[in-house]
Amino acid sequence: MTKCKLEYIWLDGYQPTQSLRSKTKIVKDFSGKVEDAEQWSFDGSSTEQAPGGSSDCLLKPVYVCPDPDRLGTGFLVMCEVLDHEGNPHRTNGRATINDNDDDFWFGFEQEYTIWNPDTQKPVGFPVEGFPGPQGPYYCSVGHGKAVGREIVEEHLELCLAAGLNVEGINAEVMMGQWEFQIFAKGAALAGDQIWMARYLLERTAEKFDMSINWHCKPVQGDWNGSGMHANFSNTLLRTCGSKEVYDAICQAFEPRIKNHIDVYGADNDQRLTGLHETQSIDKFSYGVSDRGASIRIPIVTVQNGWKGYLEDRRPASNADPYMVASAIITTVKSAKLP
Ligand code: ADP
Ligand code: MN
Ligand code: MN
Ligand code: MN
Ligand code: MN
Repeated sequence: MTKCKLEYIWLDGYQPTQSLRSKTKIVKDFSGKVEDAEQWSFDGSSTEQAPGGSSDCLLKPVYVCPDPDRLGTGFLVMCEVLDHEGNPHRTNGRATINDNDDDFWFGFEQEYTIWNPDTQKPVGFPVEGFPGPQGPYYCSVGHGKAVGREIVEEHLELCLAAGLNVEGINAEVMMGQWEFQIFAKGAALAGDQIWMARYLLERTAEKFDMSINWHCKPVQGDWNGSGMHANFSNTLLRTCGSKEVYDAICQAFEPRIKNHIDVYGADNDQRLTGLHETQSIDKFSYGVSDRGASIRIPIVTVQNGWKGYLEDRRPASNADPYMVASAIITTVKSAKLP
């Protein structure tokens, strides 16, 4: 008999940005399968999800992977939050995803900043003033340019050991800012894996006495904000071979700017300024290879004869990938196809 440690993970009810919560359940001889993870509950009055007089919220396991910090006996259990009657809680973005056949594939580029809690600045920034201007840090190597790599490397190892489908990592444009990419066939699974990777990143940073700053504009001024570009496709985008279909799908986003920006992360107006490889928050545009557009059509998609995917560049680093995917799917399905 083995006592297994199941870390139940969920999103709290804090607005405008939800945070991760988790607690450990000891279970005998756990199989590692999500269908064998029992429903659990928590005190929703401590997470802004229920009143004190009726505080129970339910945790419905939806995705399980090995816990790489407790390898052999530990598992991470991503959960949806249900209210005490068993209905999806209002904070449960995952339950709003309308993609039952997993036809949508998502690749999220999660940017974040490793934050020094003592200086309240990105790791590597001097206590007084600023480092040299942006330019040398993106995809850099070397002391004084790539800062925080030991955290990034450990996080990557943990994600791979957990079985998360990380496709790559890179140092970003601001010192102390990094990115990982996760791809999944299925919108809910892509969101599950992003949240798991965020959880592992927070826990890794704890060990180094650092924190992770998910804010989309952690340093004001001429410093890049942090995004979570959402690359997406469905069977139609992957196979149509038609510029007209791509135009129709992109044009479906134009009248729905507000539906998207509402769920693309708090304070995104500070980031989507029209500068630093972004479009303004109140404008919509799309274009081939255009990193100043709201939606970029990757050149490989065009080279493959209009078969591939699109990149919505607007989602911020602090957005909920479930809600982002949900909005994109609704909009793509609303397109008036030629
Ligand atoms: P860039 O930084 O140039 O925007 P990245 O390489 O960081 O690009 O990210 C591109 C992402 O696009 C990858 O995470 C990849 O998984 C994703 N992607 C590639 N093909 C598809 C597809 N058909 N559907 C959805 N996402 C895709
Ligand atoms: Mn208790
Ligand atoms: Mn990228
Ligand atoms: Mn990036
Ligand atoms: Mn991108």
